[in-house]
Amino acid sequence: MSINLDNNATTRPAPEVIAAITECLESDWGNPSSAHRRGIGARRRVELARDSVSALLGCEPSEVIFTSGGTEAGNLAVVGGFEQARSMNARRTIVAAAATEHPAIRDSIAECARLGAEPRQLAVDRNGLVDLDALEHFLKAEGDRCALISVMWANNETGVIQPIERIGALCRDAGVLLHTDAVQWVGRMPCAFATLPIDLLSCSAHKFHGPKGAGALVIRRGVRVTPRSLGGSQERERRGGTENVPAIAGMGVACELARTWLKLDAIEQMAALRDSLEQGLEEALGHMVVHGRDVPRLWNTSNIAFPGTESQLMVVVLSERGLAVSGGAACASGSIQPSGVLLAMGLDPELAGSSLRLSLNRSSTPEMIQSATEILTSALRAAQET
Ligand code: PLP
Repeated sequence: MSINLDNNATTRPAPEVIAAITECLESDWGNPSSAHRRGIGARRRVELARDSVSALLGCEPSEVIFTSGGTEAGNLAVVGGFEQARSMNARRTIVAAAATEHPAIRDSIAECARLGAEPRQLAVDRNGLVDLDALEHFLKAEGDRCALISVMWANNETGVIQPIERIGALCRDAGVLLHTDAVQWVGRMPCAFATLPIDLLSCSAHKFHGPKGAGALVIRRGVRVTPRSLGGSQERERRGGTENVPAIAGMGVACELARTWLKLDAIEQMAALRDSLEQGLEEALGHMVVHGRDVPRLWNTSNIAFPGTESQLMVVVLSERGLAVSGGAACASGSIQPSGVLLAMGLDPELAGSSLRLSLNRSSTPEMIQSATEILTSALRAAQET
C-alpha cells in the first residue's frame, strides 16, 4: 500500500491526460508552425488547449502564453515585466516580492537586481500573510518608482491564501504591475482572471494532474513583457521555441478535468477531509502546531510542526511505511536548512525543522486519510519517545 500526501510537489497525471499525450505523440506530432496538414493538426491541439486554459482561468485565449512550467512562467513575468515597465518609465526601478515566495520568484527578483533593479521584500505576518498596511505605506512612499510586485496566491508550503484582490487594488492605484504565482491555486480553486486586479498570473500543469514541463503565463491584454526565450515568433513573440505539443495538449485536458471537478462544489468536502486529518493527529499526539490554521488556506494543504521530531528524518521513516509527505526543511549544499517560508513567518528554526507538509489531491479518500493518520501517529510517537 502506498499513500501520497505530497501533492503540492506534484500530482499523478490523469488517465485522460496520458491518453491525450500519447495521441499527440503518435498522430499529431507535427510542428505547429508548419503550414501543411501535420502542422495544422498540431496547431489545432495547441489552440484547443489554449481555449481550455482560458476557460479554467477566466481569461481570453489570447492572454495565455504556454511555457515549460511554473518556473519559466514566473521568470518571464517578473524579469520580463520589470524590463518592460522600466523601458516605458525609467524611474520604475523597484521590484518587490513577499518573503515567502518560491525560489522561481526569489531568483527572478535577484535577476532583476543584476539588471539594475532595486529589490524590496514585502513583510509578512506570523501566518505568512502580506502586511497590507506596510504594503500601502510602501506604495504611497515609493509606488511611482516601483515596476512590479510579485505575490504567491496560495503558498506551496502552508497553503495560506493571500488577499490577492486587495493587494491588486493597491497595486492598481499605484500603477504597479502585479504578478501572482498561482501554481498551487490553479486547478484547485476557481479563478476569474478577467475580474481580478492582476496583470500577470503563472500556473503549472503538473500540480493539477497534468504533465510536467507544461505551464502558462497569463498576460492581461495591454500588458507587455520583454521575452526571455529568443529566436522564434511563437506564442505571439513572447516565448520563442517550438511548442511542446503533447504536454500542452495534456495540460488542456487537465484544465477541462479541473473545471468539471470545480463545478461539483467539492472544495468544502475536501477541506473537511483535511481538517479531519489535523483533528485525528491532534487527538492522538497532543501538542502540535498547524501553521496558518487561523487564516484562509488551500483545502488540500496542512503544514504541521511536531515538536521533538526532525522532519527530514520523518520523511524517510514515513516513506518506508508507505506514506509520501514532504519536510518543512530543505537540503542546501549538504546541510539541512529549515524552510525559508516558515522562518519568514517568524517560527523558531527548531519548530520549523520539525514541520511536515501533508498535501491531498481531489481523489484523496477518508480511508486514505484514516490510514495516513495511523501511520503518522505511530511513527511520530516513536520519534518523540526516542
Ligand atoms: N511556484 C510554486 C508556488 C510552486 O509550488 C512550484 C513548484 O513546486 C513552482 C512555482 C515551479 O513550477 P514548475 O515545477 O512547473 O516549474
